[in-house]
Amino acid sequence: METVIQKNEHFEIEIIDMGEGGEGIGKINDFTLFIPGGLIGDLVEVRIVKVKKSYGYGKMIKLIKPSPFRQEVSCELGGKCGGCQLQHMNYKAQLEWKQKKVENCLKRIGKLENIVVEPTLGMEEPYRYRNKAQYPIRKEDGKVVMGFFAPRSHRLVPLSDCAIQHVDNARIMEIVRKFLQDNDISIYNEETHKGLVRHLVIKTGYHAEEIMVCLVINGKKLPHSEKLVKALQEIPQICSIILNHHVEKNNVILGDSCTVLSGKPNIIDSIGTLKFNISPLAFFQVNPLQTEVLYQKALEYAELTGKEIVWDAYCGIGTISLFLAQKAKKVYGVEIVPQAIENAKENAKLNGISNTEFFAGKAEEVIPDLYKKGVIADTIVVDPPRKGCETKLLETLKAMAPQKIVYVSCDPATLARDLAYLTNEAGYQVEKVQPVDMFPHTTHVETVVLLSKGEIDSKKVRVEFSLEDMDMSGFQKGATYEQIKAYVLEHSGLKVSSLYISQIKRKCGLDVGQNYNLSKKENAKVPKCPPEKEAAIMEALKHFQMT
Ligand code: SAH
Repeated sequence: METVIQKNEHFEIEIIDMGEGGEGIGKINDFTLFIPGGLIGDLVEVRIVKVKKSYGYGKMIKLIKPSPFRQEVSCELGGKCGGCQLQHMNYKAQLEWKQKKVENCLKRIGKLENIVVEPTLGMEEPYRYRNKAQYPIRKEDGKVVMGFFAPRSHRLVPLSDCAIQHVDNARIMEIVRKFLQDNDISIYNEETHKGLVRHLVIKTGYHAEEIMVCLVINGKKLPHSEKLVKALQEIPQICSIILNHHVEKNNVILGDSCTVLSGKPNIIDSIGTLKFNISPLAFFQVNPLQTEVLYQKALEYAELTGKEIVWDAYCGIGTISLFLAQKAKKVYGVEIVPQAIENAKENAKLNGISNTEFFAGKAEEVIPDLYKKGVIADTIVVDPPRKGCETKLLETLKAMAPQKIVYVSCDPATLARDLAYLTNEAGYQVEKVQPVDMFPHTTHVETVVLLSKGEIDSKKVRVEFSLEDMDMSGFQKGATYEQIKAYVLEHSGLKVSSLYISQIKRKCGLDVGQNYNLSKKENAKVPKCPPEKEAAIMEALKHFQMT
């Protein structure tokens, strides 16, 4: 029988789960109720505030019996900003909840049963972990304020400190705030698109103890900037002071161009033994300690021996690629943002790593294109954004059939969807699932998954290729002799020599290398390519779009 629930009714209810945004979830028979502020295990009194067909929202009126997982909130904002949704839950319970969240997604969305999800790898000290803060700046009643936005709004919640940010940020905020106030610098207004100063962005090198302070302005110049530089020199770790110019009317935080006010244009930080150049615009993982845990897991799952050709799809500034390159023969990274690819190349140089190559483009276009050219990888790592992998990329993974796929995911729902495809359609087995807590006190969870093919498919012959051999500019037509041989072997089971390939290429009017020219001797006996091999080579040339 359907339960009839009405607005303003009161209920006593136990919170049995939590939703995406950390809101408590309870049930009144088959009716689902979302209760902001409720925690699994709480017994609460709620007033119904909104009723839909099969679900509704309740306001917590009284906490009748607190959950055993509740803890004191230590942050001054205490859930008023949109940042941390789980800080009223003790850390051990947060980690268990994240493990369950991954498990549930795999079951509910992926229909994947009997998969062991490892306990979430958490932090020893889950506070002050972030290396990047972005504070909007506003003027309220003549006073300059900065802080965070309230959940799902652009209402500013002022703050002086935040429990997950670097300790120095509070001091930096106060110096900047005082400078703006004392010098009467105009502050940006979102509605009118007038005013100069929009955001304060602070980036901190965790290991290197270098700090970048970046002021985002709606214009070219900051009046009295020398006073700001002088005031910030009070903190010796600040080695880069930047103006970012953002004159567009949108919600994006940073504009495209920067000017250095003082110090270096970038700061440097390290993950493990690798160093990374961090520019104001580049993406860099925000929790450096856990990033190392995550990458070590990906590396452990990849089980590299030094012989492998590895692809890192969605490589960002090449962080995972460089980690893998230390143990692989060659790593190719693909990333959609061209500046990130430039950073990746610089980072490879910075670390003296020469067995990586990076491509700017969509993973779902670059990798299928290269596969058509005969490229096969031993291991592929994917680390897509929240929406997961595009179908076209998954189809190419299926066709290419690397022995191992390491899937690094920031959204268990799209992870579950993609794993369903890779297991049901592409013949992979989920071997290991490891959640890692990159964002303590939030509902986010990162997961590393190892998928493998099981037995080696003996028909698949790994193509020993080098992209340097191929003309990669615009993915022009062409394939090496080795690739043609591998293709022929894989598709017809026939072994063909370079000589035969050259004969058929010549027959098709294609250029052949000088080593494959006809013998100079008039009467030299040159073996002639038999018809079945000719047909197989022709097919390969067609496949590589050479004819
Ligand atoms: N592996 C990196 C970055 C992961 S974030 C790291 O650990 O730091 C996901 C990355 O995917 C972002 O850098 C984003 O720019 C990139 N991206 C988004 N869509 C893409 C696409 N279709 N093809 C390739 N890269 C894409």
